[in-house]
Amino acid sequence: MKLDIKSMNLDELTAYLTENGFEKFRAKQVLSWIKQDASGFDEMTNIPARLRDFLSENTYFAKAEIVRTQRSKLDGTVKFLFQLYDGEYVEGVLMRYHHGLSVCISTQVGCKMGCTFCATGKSGFSRSLTASEMIAQIRSAELDAGERISNVVLMGMGEPFDNYDNVIRFLRLVSSEDSLHIGMRHITVSTCGIVPRMMDFADLQLQCGLSVSLHAPDDASRSRTMPVNRRYPISEVIDASKYYIKKTNRRISFEYALISGENDSDEYAQSLAALLSGMLCHVNLIPVNNVTGAGYRKSTIKRQNAFVNILSAAGVNATVRRTLGSDIDASCGQLKRNFTKGDV
Ligand code: SAH
Ligand code: SF4
Repeated sequence: MKLDIKSMNLDELTAYLTENGFEKFRAKQVLSWIKQDASGFDEMTNIPARLRDFLSENTYFAKAEIVRTQRSKLDGTVKFLFQLYDGEYVEGVLMRYHHGLSVCISTQVGCKMGCTFCATGKSGFSRSLTASEMIAQIRSAELDAGERISNVVLMGMGEPFDNYDNVIRFLRLVSSEDSLHIGMRHITVSTCGIVPRMMDFADLQLQCGLSVSLHAPDDASRSRTMPVNRRYPISEVIDASKYYIKKTNRRISFEYALISGENDSDEYAQSLAALLSGMLCHVNLIPVNNVTGAGYRKSTIKRQNAFVNILSAAGVNATVRRTLGSDIDASCGQLKRNFTKGDV
């Protein structure tokens, strides 16, 4: 089995090269070529042929090659379909904000969590991504945009905390000078609430943003749409969220998809307000995208406003999220499904 060289940090590559009889300083040279987007070892002209041969025999270059794009005419949002080295596909989205470019990347091919509103959850699970495959998505999007990407969200396909070790490796690597040097404060991880990993993540005190997909204020309704709730109920998710706030002093975000007639009544807003009252948090309300054939409909504007007003009146920060790329069906899992209906 070949090693994923782009997922190695400087210390690991140095150890690997010296153990195999090469000079220590070669590691820095190799990483510098990788940072300059070398497409293979042949391009590494200051590396001796013996080392180049050794590396191509024992390691491989991970990639996330853009094979399709959809560009919004409304707001500059771009959706990408990336192909990985083994032919699997994942998707990503590039968004333009006034503070710069932000990219949403995938952490797994598919997802095991099975949320009923989510197209990724409906598509099954194939495998987890390595750290280098997460970085490759950012770099491919950056090259396509021709501009530096300043913010990253792990909100594409997959559950980041079901791929915990690779996600932590990614965070450490991408923020280092040897890689893209994107600071942790500019990265947000989104989870459906894998409680033990939320606690581990808090203990690392990484200064990285955390977003928790809540979507319902009580166990009965959350378990209806998010099977993971049967394993980790709301009270535990909230306790873990409070622990993260305590450990990092950072505000947490809660995602709440507004589904007409399912979780958008005044009563739901009131119980959500009671649940989150006094917490250092922000609630992102997202009118649900009907992508799974489950018949979910977006809440009406009137209900969206009523919901946000109840939260605000109770002192809970909340906003209805602006939808970007609405003309290119920019919602989790939708791109790949449409793209792979035979036209890739
Ligand atoms: N697995 C992680 C991150 C990927 S999903 C998580 O669940 O948090 C990214 C976000 O998109 C989550 O908040 C998820 O709940 C939301 N989402 C998925 N399908 C959606 C849909 N059809 N409409 C609105 N939001 C959706
Ligand atoms: Fe997985 Fe997140 Fe989709 Fe749920 S919402 S199925 S956790 S990707």
